[in-house]
Amino acid sequence: TIGLLAIDKQGDLSGACTTSGTAWKMHGRVGDSPLIGNGLFVDNEVGAAAATGLGEEIIRTCGSHAVVENMRRGDDPKTACKKATQRIANNNESLENVQVGFIALNKRGQFGGYSVQQGFDYAVHSSNDNQLIKSQHLI
Ligand code: ASP
Repeated sequence: TIGLLAIDKQGDLSGACTTSGTAWKMHGRVGDSPLIGNGLFVDNEVGAAAATGLGEEIIRTCGSHAVVENMRRGDDPKTACKKATQRIANNNESLENVQVGFIALNKRGQFGGYSVQQGFDYAVHSSNDNQLIKSQHLI
């Protein structure tokens, strides 16, 4: 999945999400990416979020929507992402084969990410800076 979140000079948010799906997927499978609220959710009053990883787990929790709603309740973007990964963890007895990562951006331009397992990096671009950030992870 490639998930993109952006904020412009006026503070307006936008996002995009694209994927080739999972390897060896069932014919006709619909993953999280094309489902608004799952692979991507943008609320211009609050913030935006995107997800990658095991789509079925993202769909079970309306993952990106959950991240934005966490920010609406006052969480910073990283905490909002962490809580969404924690919810996915709570749904699974074992996380061995579960990887999900979220990124989030709020109305103030603050951003964050969090993943279930290690290995989820995300890039941040601003007018004068580029960063590659290794997200924190649950396990
Ligand atoms: N989230 C995608 C899916 O489950 C997979 C990916 O991260 O590329 O379809």
